[in-house]
Amino acid sequence: MKHRKRNRARQSNILFFLLLCLCCGLGNLHAQLPELRPNRSEVTADMALSALQMDHLASGNVLVEQGELDPLIAKSGGGACPTAAVGIAMQALRVMSGMKPHASPHRLALAAFRNNPELLNGRLSNKQVVDLMLHYQKHLDNSKLAIRVQSAPNSPYATDANIWDTAGLPDLMLQPNEIKILSYTVSEPSGHVLGRHFVLLKKLDGDTLFVVDPHSPGNDRHYLLEAGGSESCGRYFLRYPPEFQRPYTNELNTVFTVRIEHVDATIPDFERIKSHIDATASTLKTQDKLRSPRDWRRETASFGLPALDLPTDIGGFEWSAEQMLEVFRYAGRHDLNLRDVVGGAHSRILLHADAPEVTELLRGVVKGEKYFAITITEPDYGSDFTSMESTSRKVEGGYVLNGQKRFNARLDQATDVIVITKNPEGLRGKLNVFVLPIDAKGLKIETFGAHGLTGNSYGGLTMSDVFVPDHFLIGEDGKGYDVFSKHFLYWRLMQTAAAIGTAEQALQQMADRLKTRIVFGGPIGRFTHLQQPMGQHTTELKMAHALAVQAARLIDQDRYSEAEPLINGLKAEGVEIALKAVDAAARAFGGEGFSDLVDIGDRLRDLNGLRIADGTTDVMRSAVVRSQFGREFWDMATKGNFEQPKSELPPPGKPQ
Ligand SMILES: Cc1cc2nc3c(=O)[nH]c(=O)nc-3n(C[C@H](O)[C@H](O)[C@H](O)COP(=O)(O)OP(=O)(O)OC[C@H]3O[C@@H](n4cnc5c(N)ncnc54)[C@H](O)[C@@H]3O)c2cc1C
Repeated sequence: MKHRKRNRARQSNILFFLLLCLCCGLGNLHAQLPELRPNRSEVTADMALSALQMDHLASGNVLVEQGELDPLIAKSGGGACPTAAVGIAMQALRVMSGMKPHASPHRLALAAFRNNPELLNGRLSNKQVVDLMLHYQKHLDNSKLAIRVQSAPNSPYATDANIWDTAGLPDLMLQPNEIKILSYTVSEPSGHVLGRHFVLLKKLDGDTLFVVDPHSPGNDRHYLLEAGGSESCGRYFLRYPPEFQRPYTNELNTVFTVRIEHVDATIPDFERIKSHIDATASTLKTQDKLRSPRDWRRETASFGLPALDLPTDIGGFEWSAEQMLEVFRYAGRHDLNLRDVVGGAHSRILLHADAPEVTELLRGVVKGEKYFAITITEPDYGSDFTSMESTSRKVEGGYVLNGQKRFNARLDQATDVIVITKNPEGLRGKLNVFVLPIDAKGLKIETFGAHGLTGNSYGGLTMSDVFVPDHFLIGEDGKGYDVFSKHFLYWRLMQTAAAIGTAEQALQQMADRLKTRIVFGGPIGRFTHLQQPMGQHTTELKMAHALAVQAARLIDQDRYSEAEPLINGLKAEGVEIALKAVDAAARAFGGEGFSDLVDIGDRLRDLNGLRIADGTTDVMRSAVVRSQFGREFWDMATKGNFEQPKSELPPPGKPQ
């Protein structure tokens, strides 16, 4: 009864929509759909499916029919009805989202098979149906799917506890922006179950279910919903109407409710970020600015890229390290220089200060206006940076900085620079972190040529009595090491992710090359010595990625000390693995790989820079040894205060 009342209430909406469709001409419906949409939040399954059916009858290609896919399914696998039904659902959800139906649904179905070849085995599990739906989610701009699966009490397909009550009905009420896929078992009179069939619920009118059957989606089918009676509690049957009797028993088995949730377009999500990165990369490439961090930041602030890992109270989105890892990895696929365009980057150090002047600088990052360099390394101290010589002297209202920094990236592009010096006590390891404008009085910048990562400059700076007000000291006086060492764990992890991405893309390029480059009458892919590294490096990169995810989760749980050895190890091995992968790709490109016709050579030299930047591979490895096997190894290497183990000393005076 409840169903009936709700459905009657919606009849007028449906009629209105269909009338509009008719007035505008059926043949042109495809193009008209978004304009016809009375109100996106009011589009029902009935409206969306009816519109698609009309379009399909007119054009014949808007819905993939089951029969078109059946030949692809394994002989033992039944029909392609679930795959076709999910494809139709995806088109309906697009209409509900205010989009046009996808122009090539057949291609999408084939891509889904490529993505998950197990679909070709047919007889899909409930999980496979849900996964397929989620696979299609990327074709629903700005929308997310919420999927609920409800199973019959006697369903052998039920995989979770969501079983409909033996005394009640499955939820067959259709809300706007919602699609229901029904699956029912089909049995012969002997009771032998032939398999499951999948249809889309269009509406429930009284006890009559109107459905779209992927077998012939252009027309409606209807069934009478019948409860199984007191002895078969919770069982429901889809009876054929009297004029269409067939010898099969259809028993309702599963209801998949797919609800579309429109996402605020101003809130980034990963899929949208990826497509924005792609679009920005191709625009900036045509302007020869692909590697320019300032242009990236200006161009991408509108969709939140520089603000992803900054706090919400300054306009950021507070993405977790685990989420950020994937953004860095994705950006790295385009170019390793994009390691500098994602999130707040080194400005995140400023999160350790709460002076309003510092917060204002961070807001500038969110807006895409501010960009930060960081200077630690000095002419005489790099790996051994705690011995640095730059000084900070306390004066009234601030500090005066002196010293020289060298081999620092970004100084020509930055609006501001973070400088690390000794604190006024001047003791080793007692450091201060300051932020100052790049044009601060007394700062002099020098620039060198560099062999990679050319989106940023490479050089140094001299500080001659540079005054910095107190509010630009980040963290407490003398505690600078703690401030930036935490930041550098995060940063090294993200740099490794970018390196992984850059190498993954190089391997993809290598795979394409192996298929297309013909030598001695055949593709070079036939040389197994070129294939083997693809397998090896793919797995090594996956291993690095898996470890990176683990480290990111530790950071998200604020377990930095546990994350530290993983991240130091990853910074070493992740970058080395990436280097080997790109080197293998370069080899497969022969002479072309050494030219700028392809970007493999850039990837190689950029990774060479990254193997030094942010802690060299050697130093990172030593740090892993220190964490894993004891500090004495580090002290042995860095202090020279080792003692020969006593047991190995020959006894004094004993003749040899
Ligand atoms: C592309 C790039 C960008 C950079 N960006 C910045 C930046 O923005 N800001 C900044 O301050 N610096 C930056 N640097 C500098 C970088 O951090 C240092 O170069 C690096 O830390 C190494 O220091 P170093 O050059 O003094 O080498 P050294 O410390 O002199 O090391 C020389 C060699 O000795 C090895 N070594 C040193 N100590 C050990 C040890 N304990 N165990 C094993 N081996 C050891 C090193 O691995 C290296 O091979 C950048 C460097 C590059 C290449």
